[in-house]
Amino acid sequence: MAKHCCEAMSRCVNAPCDQHNDPFDCPDALIKFSAKFQEYGLIIHDGGTSSSTIDFCPWCGRRLPQSQRDRWFDELERRGIDPGEDEVPAEFQDDRWLTIPPRN
Ligand SMILES: [Zn+2]
Ligand SMILES: [Zn+2]
Repeated sequence: MAKHCCEAMSRCVNAPCDQHNDPFDCPDALIKFSAKFQEYGLIIHDGGTSSSTIDFCPWCGRRLPQSQRDRWFDELERRGIDPGEDEVPAEFQDDRWLTIPPRN
């Protein structure tokens, strides 16, 4: 499981709500963590799936990990995969792809 900066963040990101499977449906959910991008976002409850990416933890103030979104797209492109068209491999759907050594 992903490590988060502090207890408050872990609780918020991992808190299982027994009424809502999707954090976007849950009025109590504040933060969405995207494992594949290593991004934290404030959930905007507008009925959709919008979130606003945050760089610092609202509780402990620590800088959050750098987003890996660009690298995610780069790695897929290197494999000739278009995430909009092709099926994204399972290891790219969560944080497993991050163990791939970066190439320069
Ligand atoms: Zn924190
Ligand atoms: Zn809920």
